[in-house]
Amino acid sequence: MADTRTYTLNNGMKMPVVGLGCWKLSADVAATQVYEAIKLGYRLFDGALCYGNEKEIGVGIKQAINEGLVKREDLFIVSKLWCNFHHPDHVKLALQRTLNDLGLDYVDLYYIHFPLPIKYVPLEEKYPPEMYTGEEDRRNNIVSEQQVPILDTYRAMEKLVDEGLVKSLGLSNFQACLIQDLLRGARIKPVALQVELHPYLSQERLVTYAQSKDIQVVAYSTFGPLSFLELGNSAAKDVTPLLEHEIVLNIAKKHDVTPSQVILRWATQRGIAVIPKSSKKERLLNNLNSDKALTLSDSEMSDIFSLNKNLRFLDPWDWARLPGFF
Ligand code: NAD
Repeated sequence: MADTRTYTLNNGMKMPVVGLGCWKLSADVAATQVYEAIKLGYRLFDGALCYGNEKEIGVGIKQAINEGLVKREDLFIVSKLWCNFHHPDHVKLALQRTLNDLGLDYVDLYYIHFPLPIKYVPLEEKYPPEMYTGEEDRRNNIVSEQQVPILDTYRAMEKLVDEGLVKSLGLSNFQACLIQDLLRGARIKPVALQVELHPYLSQERLVTYAQSKDIQVVAYSTFGPLSFLELGNSAAKDVTPLLEHEIVLNIAKKHDVTPSQVILRWATQRGIAVIPKSSKKERLLNNLNSDKALTLSDSEMSDIFSLNKNLRFLDPWDWARLPGFF
């Protein structure tokens, strides 16, 4: 079993440097995948209410715990508050659904998924929630926003920490000025910032800012276009796949590792945590071992940084359809 390094968060908790991303992990295989990943040594599972598979993730976790492979406290379970549930009256409701589905008493880290509050829709009406704000809006191809300041949402999440339902709080898809504003009013400091980050979007200024505030950066979609090809994203089709890029291939060859390990290590060598998603055993192990597989030289790090194009594949303005935002 692989043994992963951890980062110590600003509240003293330990977060594995490599975890498993659970977006697009289909419900029919999620339980087995999570169970198998725990067997291989994964301890962090990055989930979210809107991924629609928390029940199945919970089944995998339960099986591993029941068989004595791990204890609950060995795991670092992550979830995210979806955009329909930003109003303080709905924050706990969303978390309760997550906890019920996972079959757990608490999550280790609870993020605000996007700083994008949209109109409340009960989970009984729409699960997984997605960018849905009611039938009429859907017919008109719009999404209605909700007038809730981020700090109001965050303060409701702080209460979840007080109640022991959540161990720590995080922000996802936030830019620096919004983080700065939130920090002015936060009673409990966020421990982590999860953002899209890969060699085509190196996020140098944001990473420097978060690290200066002792907020752990977690990279998502580290393989860049790969995750978005299957969603038909045109920008993803127009660029060289990172795992086939000459610069990455040459470095991989030199170190006798895979191109995916080069990319993941480029992130972890910057003090960033990674959560690559995979369903294949060989890739799961390969990704988990990436942190130890190689050390990149300064010039290799610079060569990978040189690929930056500030190219973002997951931009809410592309799909949020909020009236008046264009
Ligand atoms: P990713 O960069 O992890 O890429 C996933 C793709 O890479 C899959 O097609 C997989 O088969 C392939 N892959 C994985 N390991 C490989 C390997 N070793 N060799 C070759 N191919 C490999 O993309 P992602 O799933 O978008 O991001 C990872 C996780 O980040 C998600 O599962 C989710 O948990 C999280 N995420 C969060 C947000 C957010 O808004 N906070 C958004 C997107 C993703």
